[in-house]
Order: sequence, then C-alpha cells, then structure tokens
Amino acid sequence: MSGRLSGKVALISGAALGMGFAEAQRLAIEGACVVASDILVDEGEQLVSEICKSGGKATFVKLDVTSETDWQEAVETAVSTYGKLDILVNNAGIVALEGVEDTTLEIWNKVMAVNSTGTFLGMKAAIPAMRKNGGGSIINISSVWGITGTAGATAYQASKGAIRTMTKSAAVQYAAEGIRVNSVHPGIITTPMVVEGVPDEMRESVVAQTPMGREGLPEEVANMVLFLASDEASYVTGGEYLVDGGYIAL
Ligand code: NAP
Repeated sequence: MSGRLSGKVALISGAALGMGFAEAQRLAIEGACVVASDILVDEGEQLVSEICKSGGKATFVKLDVTSETDWQEAVETAVSTYGKLDILVNNAGIVALEGVEDTTLEIWNKVMAVNSTGTFLGMKAAIPAMRKNGGGSIINISSVWGITGTAGATAYQASKGAIRTMTKSAAVQYAAEGIRVNSVHPGIITTPMVVEGVPDEMRESVVAQTPMGREGLPEEVANMVLFLASDEASYVTGGEYLVDGGYIAL
C-alpha cells in the first residue's frame, strides 16, 4: 500500500475499540505496517483481520499497558515482524468520573497506572528501538480534561495532565535524536468509553459547552494522529493538539 505513512511501522495501544481502532485503520490505509495491541484479544484480532482483508499489513499483540514486560514484547514484535518501529500511539486509557472525596485510593491508583504509567512505559520501551532507527514519532493521547478542569473526574484529569507534561519532557530530551513527541487532546468523542461510561446528562452538558455543538468521531482524532505520525509533521514536537470542536476556546 502506498500513502502518507508508506514504509513506516506503527504500534498502537488500546486499538481494539474506539479511537485506537480508528487510528489503526487510518494508519494502515496510509501504508503503515500496524502492530495493534489491546487487553481485548478477540476484538483486536478481528481488527487485524479486517485490515489484512482490505490489503493492509497488521499484527495483533496482547498488551496491558501497565506491564513493562508486555511493552517490551510488543516492541520486539514490531521489530521482529516488520524490522523497526517508527510510530508509537499511546492511546489506551480508562475513565473515572469521581471527584476528590469520592475517589478511592484504588480508583486513583488504577487510573494513574493505565493512563499515566502506561504512557510512560510505552515511551520507555519504544525510544531505544526508535533511536536504532534514527528517529520516530510518539503520539500520546491526553484529553481536553488534561488541560482544563471539570466538576469530578479528579484521577482522570490528573492522569491526563501528567501525559501532557511528560510529553513535553520527552520531546525536549529526544529532539536531537529525531524522536518527536506530541500530545493530542480530544474533546468528547463517540466511543464505547463514552457510550458505556459517561452518563447521558454529562454527555449533553459537554456538548452544550462545545461550540460545534456535537460529539466528535474517532476518525476525526485519527486524522490528527496521522498528521503527527507522518513526515508532514517533521518540525512538530512538544506540542499539544486539540481535536475538541472548540471546547477549550470557549
Ligand atoms: P475506549 O472506547 O474505552 O477504548 C479504549 C481501549 O483501551 C479499549 O479496548 C480498552 O479495553 C483498552 N484498554 C483499557 N485498559 C487497557 C490496558 N490496561 N492496556 C491496554 N488496553 C487497555 O476508549 P476511547 O474513548 O477510544 O479512548 C481512547 C483514548 O482517548 C483514551 O486514552 C481516552 O482517555 C482518550 N480520550 C477519550 C475521549 C472520549 O471522549 N472518548 C476524550 C478524550 C480523551 P476495555 O474496553 O476492556 O477497557
């Protein structure tokens, strides 16, 4: 397949559903060899089968982003299957909507482990492979709620804020080695996380605070990820990119 990512190899976490699913499909359509990973094995293998049937190249690997061993194996799979690693999309995440006093230590630790530690471990595992390859692009999926506040979602907001600043830290550290690191900040996007995990009244309230007056689509986030992954973004690092229908501008 030829395209904007022709010849590149991409590893995506949380690719079985939602935004990760759309990102895997979009990157494959643009010519990348995709290592799609998730804790959901059946759904992840189904995605890979769909990509391959459409003429793309993809492999599934089971990856719990809280496991350093899983990350090492996922990067090794990319290198042994496709020869290298150019792109990492740290997409996997979980949501929790409790405020400070209702957030148990268990909720806090779980959300931080998946969203923040998972992103850190992904970068840590991918950077040595990217260095061998002479560079790469890391895209960390944060949120508008990694930039601004809302009532509740204490652990989620803290975890997404950590992604925003660890992105800038890594961007500065690795710029000289040709490794670009950027964060993407979606507003409310129609995915299983939102449909199954966010109450209707909260969805309506966020849409009411969104100038474009609607939820976004996973494909609209995938388009931003594609740009940041590609050589079109060759002078882009350490930045934060909103895909939010104007939510932060209000
Ligand atoms: P989603 O529909 O829930 O999909 C996320 C995928 O990640 C699921 O397959 C999920 O599996 C998987 N996952 C969960 N924990 C994991 C772990 N420990 N290791 C590996 N995979 C794991 O979520 P989404 O809405 O597409 O969200 C994707 C990213 O965008 C997340 O980081 C999220 O915080 C962020 N985001 C979403 C929105 C939104 O409005 N949807 C807005 C801003 C930012 P399970 O289903 O089994 O949990």
